[in-house]
Amino acid sequence: MGDFTLDLNDDQRSVRAWIHGFAADVMRPAAAEWDEREETPWPIIQEAAKIGLYSLDFYAQQFFDPTGLGIPMTMEELFWGDAGIALSIVGTGLAAVGVLANGTEEQIGTWVPQMYGDAADVKVASFCSSEPDAGSDVGAMRTRAVYDGAKDEWVLNGTKTWATNGGIANIHVVVAVVDPELGTRGHASFIVPPGTPGLSQGQKFKKHGIRASHTAEVVLADVRVPGHCLLGGKDKLDERLARSRERAATGGERVKNAAMATFEASRPAVGAMAVGTARAAYEYALEYAVGREQFGRPIIDNQGVAFQLTDMRTQIDAARLLVWRASWMATAGRPFTSAEGSMSKLFASETAKKVTAQAIQILGGNGFTREYPVERMHRDSAIYTIFEGTSEIQRLVIARTLSGLPIR
Ligand SMILES: Cc1cc2nc3c(=O)[nH]c(=O)nc-3n(C[C@H](O)[C@H](O)[C@H](O)COP(=O)(O)OP(=O)(O)OC[C@H]3O[C@@H](n4cnc5c(N)ncnc54)[C@H](O)[C@@H]3O)c2cc1C
Repeated sequence: MGDFTLDLNDDQRSVRAWIHGFAADVMRPAAAEWDEREETPWPIIQEAAKIGLYSLDFYAQQFFDPTGLGIPMTMEELFWGDAGIALSIVGTGLAAVGVLANGTEEQIGTWVPQMYGDAADVKVASFCSSEPDAGSDVGAMRTRAVYDGAKDEWVLNGTKTWATNGGIANIHVVVAVVDPELGTRGHASFIVPPGTPGLSQGQKFKKHGIRASHTAEVVLADVRVPGHCLLGGKDKLDERLARSRERAATGGERVKNAAMATFEASRPAVGAMAVGTARAAYEYALEYAVGREQFGRPIIDNQGVAFQLTDMRTQIDAARLLVWRASWMATAGRPFTSAEGSMSKLFASETAKKVTAQAIQILGGNGFTREYPVERMHRDSAIYTIFEGTSEIQRLVIARTLSGLPIR
């Protein structure tokens, strides 16, 4: 593990330039069209797969980058290109991380490659945790997984919602309750392999932003999966449940919830997506403010406009620093003693919403139309303060971490 540095190394700089080229040349020109179509941009994912930008190898390389900056750099560049298309490209990663975090080596080797497919036959994956009555309150989850020992199968029943790639995925990773007495500690994750009977897509949502990514309900009706689809395996699950029951009975120390720890560590990646969208809107607004003339001079010649741009840029740089710090800490195995992961996501996502709104204001009437990209960026930016934990939930996590109190 290297020391923290703000200097990207030569490899990282060339990877960043490569992603930027794809974002500028392939994603940007297609962004408005796929936003209107509100569909998964399969041809663009395929283009990304052809050059290796949509592949297990590429994301594994960035995920295991010892500096911790590979993932934030990749996210920022892709989401600078277009947030909706970028989410369609990186959405599979959330399911892959679910398997990497909880699966055995054999499970990782079997299922993760099937999530991506290959350039000739591209696939996507979906991570299904949220439910209609269990969004922020993950403990209210109702989807049940019951073990059928006679057949060594798990039977899943329930309805998941808001699943990115839900119903169109080759592999679904489903979080379900195996022991309702234990709250979130009684949850486990399952692979639902391609073509499993009983899994179907429910409502597909028409969204405010990131419309080039598919979001839908996933209905599980007596879905039977083989025992080996339980991530981590049954022995490990039984041990974990026994430990949690014992601690619940004796009032002992709480068993750390692995899913929550994974979310905390993955939050900087969402922060980096927000930085990408914010930077895209800021750059567009800056160029516009230099070129647009009113009262015989460029509008940036007014402090009212210039100072907005300076604040936008300052906040974007500050957001990136928080994201990079948290990403480095996560990679270095440093505990988030001040909830630094949540801090980075909170600040970057709120910055993206603010900065994209300012960009609309700087473009005036043009900013309000779909002829210009900043209104799409503003619509897209609204997701960052909602998914992977809302801003309010990030504040709760930070407040509890700082105070040690169970603030509600
Ligand atoms: C486009 C999109 C893609 C998504 N992709 C996925 C995915 O791939 N997989 C997946 O599992 N989920 C996904 N989600 C779900 C997302 O993580 C949830 O929407 C999010 O966690 C919030 O849950 P909720 O929508 O039920 O809102 P709620 O939990 O109902 O919250 C509503 C409001 O109440 C506030 N609130 C709730 N509790 C508290 C509290 N204790 N204190 C203060 N305020 C509170 C919230 O902050 C929010 O403002 C996605 C969502 C969207 C919109």
